[in-house]
Amino acid sequence: MSKTTLIKNASWVAAWDEATDRHVYLRDGDVAFTGDSIDFVGAGYDGAADTTVDGRDLFVMPGLINIHSHPQTEPSTKGIREEHGVPEMYMTGLYERSLAFRLDDDGRRAGAELAYGDLLLSGVTSLADLSSDLDGWLDLLAGSGLRGFVAPGYASARWLLENAQELKFDWDEAAGRQGFEDAIRLIEAAEQHPSGRLSGIVFPAQIETCSEDLLRDSIAFARDTGRPCTTHLSQSVVEFNEIVRRHGVTPVQFAESIGLLGPTTILGHCIFIDQHSSLRWHSRQDLGILADSGTSIAHCPSPFARYGDALEDVGGYLRAGVNVGMGTDVAPHNLIEEMRLALILSHVATKDIHASSTADLFQMATVNGAKALLRDDIGRLAPGCKADVVLVDLGNPAMMPVRDPLKSLIYHAADRAVRDVYVDGRQVVAGGRVLTLDRAEAAGRLAEAQARMERDVPNHDYAGRTAQEISPLSLPPA
Ligand SMILES: [Zn+2]
Repeated sequence: MSKTTLIKNASWVAAWDEATDRHVYLRDGDVAFTGDSIDFVGAGYDGAADTTVDGRDLFVMPGLINIHSHPQTEPSTKGIREEHGVPEMYMTGLYERSLAFRLDDDGRRAGAELAYGDLLLSGVTSLADLSSDLDGWLDLLAGSGLRGFVAPGYASARWLLENAQELKFDWDEAAGRQGFEDAIRLIEAAEQHPSGRLSGIVFPAQIETCSEDLLRDSIAFARDTGRPCTTHLSQSVVEFNEIVRRHGVTPVQFAESIGLLGPTTILGHCIFIDQHSSLRWHSRQDLGILADSGTSIAHCPSPFARYGDALEDVGGYLRAGVNVGMGTDVAPHNLIEEMRLALILSHVATKDIHASSTADLFQMATVNGAKALLRDDIGRLAPGCKADVVLVDLGNPAMMPVRDPLKSLIYHAADRAVRDVYVDGRQVVAGGRVLTLDRAEAAGRLAEAQARMERDVPNHDYAGRTAQEISPLSLPPA
C-alpha cells in the first residue's frame, strides 16, 4: 500500500490553476500525495494521511526542472573556469579548456555525485544530464533520487586547436555513428531502469561537430520514438562564424533548413542568434523561426555572463512565443541563482526592469522545462501530477519578511531556504540535507581527481602549457 503524505495548512502554495493555465498563490492550503502522485491541492483536505507535515511557515512549490547540465565534468572546473577565457575567440574559453583539462572517470563520477546533491539542495527534482557514458551512470543518477533525463552525447568531429585563434575539426563520421548507436542503447536501458525515474534525450553534441546526416538521423529517431532531442547551438561567436562560413546562414537558419527544429527539439543556448548585439548580423529572422517551429531553448546565463555576454532579452524570447526553460551549464549547480542572474542580466541588457519578471522565471524553471521534456505531469502542483514537491522554510531569516515567497527565494535566500525535497513522493532532502548522497565524500574524491587533471594539462594543451599558465590563481604565491 502506498503511503499518503499531507502538508497541512501551508502558509503559501504555488498551485497550478487549470482554468488559467498558470501558477497561482494559494494561502493556507493543503497538499497531499500518495505514492508517486499528487492527490490534492487546495483548502480543507479531509482524507486520511500516514504522515502529516505542519505547513505553517512553509512555501510549497513544484520541484524545479533543469533541462541542460553537465554534472560529470563541470564541478571539476571550480577555481579553473570562472575567469578563464580566450580573447582571440571572442572571450569563450570553452574549446581551449575542454581540450586541455581532461577529467578521468573517477573524477566524473565524483563530480556527478556532487552536482546531483547541489541540484537537489536548490530544489531541482528533474534533471537533463548531458554527459558521456560512464560505468554506473544510470545507477548513480537513479540513486541520487532525481528524476533523470539521460542524454549521452556523441559527435562526428572533435574540436582541434593549434593556436589561440582558430577552431579546427577532426572529423570521424564512423565514430559519430557508433556514438549514436551506443546512445540509443543507453537511452533504452535508462527507460528500463528499475527506478522508473529515468528516461532519455537524443543528444548530438554540437551543431558544428555533427554532420548534416547525423543531425537529420538524430532528429528523425527522436521524433519517431517520441523522445526529446537536444544539441548546443548559438553558444559562441566562433560557432556562429563557423556555420556562416560553411552555409552562409546563421546556426538557427541552418538548423531550420535541415529539419532540426520543432517541438521535440531543445537548443542550448541560443544566445548568438541574428539579433544579438555582439554579431551585427543583417537578418532578423531567428526568433521568429524558433517561435514558429515550437523549438525550446535551454537558458543558462552563468557561463556566458562570465565571458562578458548575455542572451540579452529573455522576456523578448518569451513574448515572441519561444518556449524557454532553465539549465545550469556550469558549477555552481544552483538553479535558483541562475534564475536570479537571468532576471538581472535581462534587465541590464535591455535597460528595462520590466523586461522579465519573477513569474516568467518561475514558469521557465517549471512548466516550460516540462514542455521541453515533452511532459505535462511535472513542474506543477495539481492532482494527478508527479509528487515532485519542494518545501521552502519561510522562517529562514534570509526569506523574511515574506511578502512574496518567490521574490524572497529567487532574489534573496536561494538554496539556503530549501528545507525538504520529494521526488516521486520519496523524500530526498530533509532539513537542508541530502539523504541519498554523501556530498563531502564525493567532494574529497573530486579534489583528488582535479589535481590529477591539472598535472595532465601540458600533455593535452596545444602549446604544452601548465594549468597555472592557462588559469592562474587569484593571488601570486607568497
Ligand atoms: Zn552545455
